[in-house]
Amino acid sequence: MSKRILLKGGQVVGGPRVPADVLIENDIIAAIGPSIDAADAEIIDVAGMLVAPGFVDTHRHIWQTSIRGVAADWSLVEYIRFIRLGYATAYRPEDVWISTYAGALEALDAGITTICDFCHIMRTPEHADAGIEGLDRSGIRGQFYYGFYDVPSEPRSFLDHDARVRHARQFFDARFRARPASALVTMGVALTEFNLIPVAHTADEIAVARDFDIPLTMHMGTLSTPDSVARLAQAGLLGPRMLHVHCNASSDDELKAIADSGGALSITPETELQMGMGIPVTNRALAVGLRPTLGIDIVSDYSGDMFAQMRIALQTARAMDNQKVLDAGRMPPEIDLKVADVYDFATIDGARAIGLDTQVGSLAVGKQADIITVRQDGIHHAPRTADPLASLVLQVRPSDIDSVFVAGQARKRDGRLVGVDVAAVRERAQASSDHLAAAFAEAMQRTGQTATRATYGSELARATKGDVS
Ligand SMILES: [Zn+2]
Repeated sequence: MSKRILLKGGQVVGGPRVPADVLIENDIIAAIGPSIDAADAEIIDVAGMLVAPGFVDTHRHIWQTSIRGVAADWSLVEYIRFIRLGYATAYRPEDVWISTYAGALEALDAGITTICDFCHIMRTPEHADAGIEGLDRSGIRGQFYYGFYDVPSEPRSFLDHDARVRHARQFFDARFRARPASALVTMGVALTEFNLIPVAHTADEIAVARDFDIPLTMHMGTLSTPDSVARLAQAGLLGPRMLHVHCNASSDDELKAIADSGGALSITPETELQMGMGIPVTNRALAVGLRPTLGIDIVSDYSGDMFAQMRIALQTARAMDNQKVLDAGRMPPEIDLKVADVYDFATIDGARAIGLDTQVGSLAVGKQADIITVRQDGIHHAPRTADPLASLVLQVRPSDIDSVFVAGQARKRDGRLVGVDVAAVRERAQASSDHLAAAFAEAMQRTGQTATRATYGSELARATKGDVS
């Protein structure tokens, strides 16, 4: 017996300008149109609401949920010292599990139905297990990228790079091969930053992805390695199913090389602007035919909602375009980058970047039922924006999201997560946070440093610089 849900009378974003129904049958969208007759379906009245595909977050380190907000005033250099070489060294498997579970729930609550988890907190094999288990438990769709980055903590589980690669292969043998075809979370590989290891090691990491026929992702083109895309190409390692993250310092030729190689781009506007990584490459990427996609990156800095990233990406790109005209002494007569562009970055372009565009990223019959419904009855919608797309990108707040479905399963209804004891999750996340904060404070004291300008981690870490975020 199939399970049918009828979302009745909403405004389908990207659909006709009149109210329409969306019929969900099991995990797929069975019909979209006016006045669908489905007497046996559970009927959900969404009159006055927007009905849209869930967002696709193409870059997040979900493990940082437990250290929410600590990076509020940090540059990339401070971020590397305090988190990558600091807090990370104190993470236990249970911290990874609750961070991942709570972070994925936070994403669902904010209308993100697909997430790419760049999990580079693999201190031990148990850390890897905790990451995938937390993600699975949440009910979100996603890609779990096993991170090779060697967290500099003691005792060491992986004595050298070969040991790390061996574990990755064991992990994929045990965890990836055993996954049912219906699993919502698939797997990939997250490379160590290009400047931290020899090219031969990068090749070994890429070989794991190629051998298991899974995608890979990596941080690329920030100031310390502006030419990392070119170097990857020179080594014969640039190829398809590679999700390149940031690329602020990459040249236009390198961006084109990514497009030509069948690779994809994820930008994270808020970290890039704050931390001194450079201007998001939106305009330059579009000019060479490379569609940007959007990542939240880290809630250790700011909130995990896609609306903020859409708006920051959009207005930064517009500002860059406008400034060129202003510098010529003229007023910009019009604006090139549209709301629809950035909406696509957050939905269908994101889905395409990770090979899921035939399944998610837009509402169409036969696609997976990854759907959000969005209220427009708050005072901030008085009066309602006429253009549904303009409303969704520029007016809506995460708290307006009424319901979230992933593969036809309700993960949020009537503004509340379904089947989640939020108080218990909060309690566990707080305990994890308390542990990590205490470890951080202890290290500060031990090394005689002050809280915000410390070099915690430097005593634990090998010398490092660069392309890490
Ligand atoms: Zn990142």
